[in-house]
Amino acid sequence: MLGTGAADGWPNPFCTCNSCAAERAAGRSRTSSAAIIDGIVLIDCGPTTTHAAVRAAVELSGVEHVLITHGHPDHLAPEFLLWREWIPDLRHLHVWGPRAAIDRCRHWVGPDSPVSFHVVKPGDEVLAQTQGGTYRVRVVRASHGHGNGDELADEAVLYDLTAPDHSRLFYATDTGPLGPAQIASLSGRAFDVVLIDESFGFKDDHGTGHLDLTTLPITLTALRSAAAITDATDVIAIHLSHHNPPERELRAALHPMGARIVDDLAIIDTATGSPPTRHLIIGGVRSGKSTYAEALAALHPNVTYVATGESRADDVEWLARVDAHRSRRPAHWRTVETADLAALLEGTESGEVLLIDCLGMWLTRQLDQADAWSDDPEVSAAAVVEVSARIEALAAATGTTRAHVLMVTNEVGQGVVPATSSGRLFRDLMGIANRRLSLSCNDVTFMVAGRPLPMGTLP
Ligand SMILES: [Zn+2]
Ligand SMILES: [Zn+2]
Ligand SMILES: [Zn+2]
Repeated sequence: MLGTGAADGWPNPFCTCNSCAAERAAGRSRTSSAAIIDGIVLIDCGPTTTHAAVRAAVELSGVEHVLITHGHPDHLAPEFLLWREWIPDLRHLHVWGPRAAIDRCRHWVGPDSPVSFHVVKPGDEVLAQTQGGTYRVRVVRASHGHGNGDELADEAVLYDLTAPDHSRLFYATDTGPLGPAQIASLSGRAFDVVLIDESFGFKDDHGTGHLDLTTLPITLTALRSAAAITDATDVIAIHLSHHNPPERELRAALHPMGARIVDDLAIIDTATGSPPTRHLIIGGVRSGKSTYAEALAALHPNVTYVATGESRADDVEWLARVDAHRSRRPAHWRTVETADLAALLEGTESGEVLLIDCLGMWLTRQLDQADAWSDDPEVSAAAVVEVSARIEALAAATGTTRAHVLMVTNEVGQGVVPATSSGRLFRDLMGIANRRLSLSCNDVTFMVAGRPLPMGTLP
């Protein structure tokens, strides 16, 4: 990513708003969005793009194709063609884009320049031949203009790019919500990476030429139902402006949409594929942890809900709670009731989603089974050893499972010291289990008063 920011960058250097101040204080900055693919295909080349390459010591000599989405100045600063021309023995360069954008480029090259210009329009499918193989480029209409005379916005396009190794990228900025025809044209694409407009954060009076935190999830859901985005797609929000909340809040807002952000100059590697995600969601009673985990799971088509508690047919209040949980979940989810989570994690196929709710129940059941509440101190001591071993086995299975895991657990260590020894034993083992499981997960979220607090990554 040679840039992930909006036209004005983020922070906007003239601005002192909270969002700009927070990013500035953290030493973060983003310049106009552009991406280079395999060092060969450059998508958009704004005023900061070549300078970003200079600063990062990234070489652009291998670029054979430049795909321009539209002629707005943050996406096309055509003087790069002149700077390139000062170099001897250039490779032939192909520049693709909508008509008015290409017209902005033409006078920046000399008559003998090894540059060809190609005008594209929505619906075109072209083959970009390179020394590294052929890239297939499908041109998709953007929803960027309002037909109010901004020709550069009206003709804007998005690019659906298939690399020689068959990995697929959807470069989708600048655009507002995609309509049914655009979604249909992307049906079944199962992109490896989607780079998508998220210009406006919580601002909602900007018109329909960009996406914001209200319209982005709607567009992502449409792309998911059309199988353009799958569980394996890496969805990355770009064209970020200061209308977005500071980065930590933005990450939390994007997380339930299955989207993330990356820094400028980040490298996105499709060859490694996305590893299984293991996400621990921890919170107190009624903190919203189950609801949050269910919202994350609902992004995936095949979900198995794993109930870890034992049915207690004689407890009316408990049955009512179970019913409330069940009616909240989509009818097509599978439900499994088991306390043997390690075996379940080991036996689950890759790509499946397990929503495990919750570890507190699981721990209670392990302690019951091992007879930890026995009055005989030898029996209860042996039970604690046994349960500790099961916690280790669960953590190990979580670390190596091929399934995507969402695991809900209870934070029980922050209240008063429990009055009973059994309460203290439960609290201690729950704390140990949480700490152990947290190390096996790549994401941990702390739920407080219904708000997800991402806990960051371990070094
Ligand atoms: Zn833009
Ligand atoms: Zn600002
Ligand atoms: Zn634009």
